[in-house]
Amino acid sequence: MTTHHQHEVVIVGAGGAGLMAALYASRGADTAVLSKLYPTRSHTGAAQGGIGAALGNLEEDRAEWHSFDTVKGSDYLGDQDAIEFMCNEAVPVVYELEHMGLPFSRTADGRIAQRPFGGHTNNTTKKPVRRAAYAADRTGHMILQTLYQQCTKNKVKFYDEYQVLDLILEGGKAAGVVAVELATGELHTFHAKSVVFATGGHGRVWDVTSNAYAYTGDGVAIAARRGIPLEDMEFFQFHPTGIRKLGILITEGVRGEGGILLNDKGERFMEKYAPTVKDLASRDVISRSIYMEIRDGNGIGGKNYVYLDARPETINRYAALDGRTNPDGSPYIVTAEELLSKLPDIVDFCRTYLGVDPVKQPMPIQPTAHYAMGGIPTNMFGEVVIDEKNTVMPGFYAVGECACVSVHGANRLGTNSLLDLVVFGKQAGVRAAEYAKGSKYGKFPTDAADFTRQQLDRILNNPGDENVVDIANEMKVTMMDHVGVFRTEEGMGQAVEKIRELKGRYLRMGVQDKGKIFNTDLLNAWELGNLLDCAEVTAVAAKARKESRGGHAREDYPKRDDKNWLKHSLAWLNADGVKLGYKDVKITKYEPKERVY
Ligand SMILES: Cc1cc2nc3c(=O)[nH]c(=O)nc-3n(C[C@H](O)[C@H](O)[C@H](O)COP(=O)(O)OP(=O)(O)OC[C@H]3O[C@@H](n4cnc5c(N)ncnc54)[C@H](O)[C@@H]3O)c2cc1C
Repeated sequence: MTTHHQHEVVIVGAGGAGLMAALYASRGADTAVLSKLYPTRSHTGAAQGGIGAALGNLEEDRAEWHSFDTVKGSDYLGDQDAIEFMCNEAVPVVYELEHMGLPFSRTADGRIAQRPFGGHTNNTTKKPVRRAAYAADRTGHMILQTLYQQCTKNKVKFYDEYQVLDLILEGGKAAGVVAVELATGELHTFHAKSVVFATGGHGRVWDVTSNAYAYTGDGVAIAARRGIPLEDMEFFQFHPTGIRKLGILITEGVRGEGGILLNDKGERFMEKYAPTVKDLASRDVISRSIYMEIRDGNGIGGKNYVYLDARPETINRYAALDGRTNPDGSPYIVTAEELLSKLPDIVDFCRTYLGVDPVKQPMPIQPTAHYAMGGIPTNMFGEVVIDEKNTVMPGFYAVGECACVSVHGANRLGTNSLLDLVVFGKQAGVRAAEYAKGSKYGKFPTDAADFTRQQLDRILNNPGDENVVDIANEMKVTMMDHVGVFRTEEGMGQAVEKIRELKGRYLRMGVQDKGKIFNTDLLNAWELGNLLDCAEVTAVAAKARKESRGGHAREDYPKRDDKNWLKHSLAWLNADGVKLGYKDVKITKYEPKERVY
């Protein structure tokens, strides 16, 4: 049985992006949010470090500096009009969150506290600037809770634990979605005037990742199957500091508070690779530096990890060497109590998962797959664009990590994702409601749920000589080895072949649970199909890009090549492979230069 619903605006995803869009859409139109997770379990809740805005609460800062840092961090692949828009909007939007009740950490005189983060600088002195507004190390959690309360107040209709499996297009416009209700296994169709995808990332493609289990690229893969190209998928960020083997994130805020990366010889190796900002260089630079140290035999005990040392005595020693001061000019000194109050969750994670007390011991860390710069292409109003000329698809919007605006280009700066969610979530919400108000419901096909039913039936009815876990593990290890921090033509070629082989085996894969109620076995299998699609597009687009830029580092093409590659990739996923196209990067006032940190 299929139940039918109708809402003017249907938003898929209840993370920071989906909830901000919902809040704004619900001010102008009848709005529903569908989420496979209970909203406050979305990955936004795991964001620790902060949200970037040039508030200048502790020292001089300017939106213009934030824009330049973001352009530079993006390795000049970010669209500069969108970046300038985001960095200008950052200041009012952070105050808006404050006025909604978000409990930010405070300065002694009551203003929103700010901490330094990688790649954010005072453009005159080139020194790190305190730009990340934070709520201890639970910034994302607080954003999510605050926005959820506001949406509830605004009477947004929530369909919790409804997983969207398909997007319905009619006459070149978005017309709705098909979802399964997890508790019953029943299919539901949703007819809408505007559809907003805010489904998060796809970091579960890799073996060591900071991402939630739910990060399976559902929205990205659904859009690709419906003929929408994916932009810049070759750019995936590896965060330098994941807990060794587990991948759980240690926020960059730890280095913002003065934590130092050390190799087996006890050397502060970032001095070699980024002499000016050292441990606060951008993430791509630090992840590569860690790999190089490991290759040179400088990993701890010769193994594949290094230390992040945040013991107060270490922080204070290096702060003195760097001449770091407090805003009032006094020497920067931290105590164990201060660290505990600024980073309570990190201290807790390390004690729980590692048996390491970061106040007394250094933390073993390695780079971890963290953030998708690429995704569904949009303009700066959250409208999905479907070709090289940026033609808008009416009624379809994407926002947050599943989207590519592109403000992060080839490498995202820390704190700019939370910012992206709220700035562009608001735009998408406003536009989706306006579009809905100005249009009539289009046609909705009577057989809308057929494709979804066929997909699920195929998995349920397969005899099952292949299983989800084996295929997933082979994919993750392949992507980690060949489409990770460093890449080569040969390795990526092997990855493309392997993913295609796995996609063949995927079609023969079965599941044990044939039931209807909370059949996570079936849905995990369906999600693996999305991960394989994301992996294939990533590997193909990466192999084609013959240069190194941001998160895409090739050993055979170690330099950035602006002459041939200063362009966004677009990848169309077809039954027989991936077709690639390219489109221009928007440059306003920052001409590409070499990045020096
Ligand atoms: C550990 C960690 C720490 C981070 N720290 C920071 C930080 O300090 N600062 C910063 O700027 N960024 C940080 N990031 C990045 C940032 O948190 C994420 O990029 C951002 O929160 C993503 O938000 P989102 O709204 O796009 O997705 P999410 O918050 O993940 O929400 C996705 C939503 O989509 C729903 N969904 C997905 N698929 C379906 C489907 N098929 N059907 C229905 N619903 C679906 C989910 O239920 C969920 O509600 C961090 C990321 C991680 C993993």
